[in-house]
Amino acid sequence: MELTDALALIRRVPDFPEPGVLFQDITPVLGDPAAFRAVVDAMAATLEDVDTLVAVDARGFFFGAAVAYSRGLGVVPVRKAGKLPVVGGHASYSLEYGTAQLEIPADLIKPGQRVAVIDDVLATGGTAAAACELVEHAKAEVAGITVLMEIGALGGRRRLVGRKIHALLTV
Ligand code: AMP
Repeated sequence: MELTDALALIRRVPDFPEPGVLFQDITPVLGDPAAFRAVVDAMAATLEDVDTLVAVDARGFFFGAAVAYSRGLGVVPVRKAGKLPVVGGHASYSLEYGTAQLEIPADLIKPGQRVAVIDDVLATGGTAAAACELVEHAKAEVAGITVLMEIGALGGRRRLVGRKIHALLTV
């Protein structure tokens, strides 16, 4: 399947999870085998010289795990606070709809590693910025951020100045 056809499966859902938010529902991409393969291959192709991946809770896990497998890499889940038994660091962030904390498992990212951050949607950039902070707190280097789609109007790039951002689709 062509990447553009795969990305066309993303559903826009107005007023979810709260009024005023246009939610980008990527689940139809996950549910379609050809579409899932097309986006995973395209995300994997954005990685250059990377030692490991960080995937962001929760939809980033699908893409991060599949990209890691296809590239022969491991994947480190960055999770919402309270989910990890052994925490290596935490970072606060604000969302398009709310605020939260992200945590990284202890000792999985090694100092000096080059790490790609993977998520589904880049909106205000707070989540990706927090994930990058956690990588750097572990004394590793953020090689880039790869997302399925970027919502340009929400200005995520302004919070990620100097970072290499790969978005398969920008709306
Ligand atoms: P942000 O921190 O604002 O860049 O938000 C990115 C995170 O929140 C990602 O993990 C997305 O899964 C989720 N997210 C934020 N806004 C949306 C949206 N409009 N549609 C779908 N997911 C979103």
